[in-house]
Amino acid sequence: MCGIVGYVGRQDATPLLLAGLHRLEYRGYDSAGIAVIGRGGVKLHKSSGRIARLEATLPKRGVRGTTGIAHTRWATHGEPTDANAHPHADCSGEIAVAHNGIIENFAALRAELTAAGHTFRSETDTEVLAHLIEAAYDGDLQQAVREALRSVQGTYGIVVIDGRHPDRIVAARNGSPVVIGIGDKEMFVASDVAALVRHTQQIVYLDDREIATIEAGGFRTSTLDDEPTQKSPATVPWGFEAYDRGEHAHFMLKEILEQPETCERTLKGRLDAQFGTAHLGGLNLGARDLLDIRRVKILGCGSAYYAGLAGAHMIEMLARIPADAEPASEFRYRNPVIERETLYVAVSQSGETADTLAAVREVRRKGGRALGIVNTVGSQVARECDGGIYMHAGPEIAVASTKAFTSTLLCTALLALNLGRVRDLSAADGKRVVAALGRIPEQVRAVLRERERVRALAVKYMQHASAFFIGRTHAYPVALEGAQKLKEISYVHAEAYPASELKHGPLALVSPDTPTYVVLPQDDLYEKSLSSIEEIRARRGPVVAITQPGDESLPTKVDDVIVVPHTEPVLSPILLTIPLQLLAYETAVALGRDVDQPRNLAKSVTVE
Ligand code: GLU
Repeated sequence: MCGIVGYVGRQDATPLLLAGLHRLEYRGYDSAGIAVIGRGGVKLHKSSGRIARLEATLPKRGVRGTTGIAHTRWATHGEPTDANAHPHADCSGEIAVAHNGIIENFAALRAELTAAGHTFRSETDTEVLAHLIEAAYDGDLQQAVREALRSVQGTYGIVVIDGRHPDRIVAARNGSPVVIGIGDKEMFVASDVAALVRHTQQIVYLDDREIATIEAGGFRTSTLDDEPTQKSPATVPWGFEAYDRGEHAHFMLKEILEQPETCERTLKGRLDAQFGTAHLGGLNLGARDLLDIRRVKILGCGSAYYAGLAGAHMIEMLARIPADAEPASEFRYRNPVIERETLYVAVSQSGETADTLAAVREVRRKGGRALGIVNTVGSQVARECDGGIYMHAGPEIAVASTKAFTSTLLCTALLALNLGRVRDLSAADGKRVVAALGRIPEQVRAVLRERERVRALAVKYMQHASAFFIGRTHAYPVALEGAQKLKEISYVHAEAYPASELKHGPLALVSPDTPTYVVLPQDDLYEKSLSSIEEIRARRGPVVAITQPGDESLPTKVDDVIVVPHTEPVLSPILLTIPLQLLAYETAVALGRDVDQPRNLAKSVTVE
């Protein structure tokens, strides 16, 4: 979500900052801006719309200076206008601030600052920061920022420059990621490593309530209470190519097609064929701890929540422990009862999802144990959990999650195996699941070969304004995810229901105009799902079945069929999901949508 880039060094900052912003474009934004310290002090350029528009408004000879900050905004307070774009300056024009997040008490602060004579030029919550820093300024920028932040409630990742200190950037974090990139006599700072990896692989994540002064030759960090902190640099595990689209038309397509490899990476070194179990080094739980777990609650938002629903089913089936999933975004607001014997599992691709992080904190504050299933190594959720399972799926750039979804399912399957094998899951059953997991990457590859067929389906049904997705038990989360993918990138209205619920309401809307995608694994409930299909056909609703081999006569009962390979029943959601990812992608492309930057959405939602 929205982006920050900063540079301090010997090179011309502007082209570096603009290139950095481009690398953050995928996160979604509505305006952009840049502030560079030039000869005459801080120069600001801001523009609503795309970064290309900002570039067009810059002076022909560029903005010269070796220290600067830049921002892509995803408006929360005030419309996406030129004036509301970041960075924001104080009254003197010496200080410029770029901010991700929300200042919750901005209205009161703004009233106070206005009464004290400050003039505001935007409607944003952010601008109060510039004036607060100005009011606290006494020659020491870091001290002024620290003081300003003391009166602020809310979330922020900020970078600040000051024309009187052209050699430094001050950055701070509370709830919105800030990462420092260490170069050779130059330093970078950003909200996301994607903006830095072209320049350096050495990074440092700021923690919440931490502040840093960054100069070309180094940086120092301390808490907002002025306690110095020690940071050790980490190495980004992926080269910059991993952040590139390569020859693919969209990041989303690249990430869908990558899944044979990403699934393989998630499983790598974790399958134990001999004992029919999984090795998960990061759980920090011994066999006894695993045995003490009486219940599992998975927390996630959007696709991570749907993956959690499928994962909870796997855990119930393999480990016979009650398990369920809940939207992390709601969790803390219902004063949840935290149980000592429940394992709470937080799922977040970025590891920075504000709602999921808040849920983790609620769990831990009340003495519960939280595990993370996270893709980004070293991210905040990963750091705040008691243990976890990394997805190792590589950077996911597209707003619509695909490879992180399948990797999450694999992580939950591994966890289910682990929990099952210290209980009643026999070695023979465990070995069967392990063998089936080992075959998943190859099977994913086979499903991806259906792309042309799915494309034809997308074109056939793309003009319908509405679609249903149905499935039973563990096929239902797949239906939810299929509907979510379709609506978020193609803007086709899509709803998911348990197949058994159709007759309790939504059937009223089924007509020749509403295709229904039926997630139809070959399992005990197959025949029952066929009855749901009959109910739809009786209302002349088109039916597309996403199924597994076994029923030769199915093509006579539905309009279209996509077949994925057989696997262990608990693992079938992994394979059944992929045709629906392709369907959403091909529909969006056929409708001319902006696949990687869907309207109103952003990657890594770091605001509540
Ligand atoms: N709340 C700020 C604004 O609306 C920052 C939004 C962002 O994170 O981009 O300007």
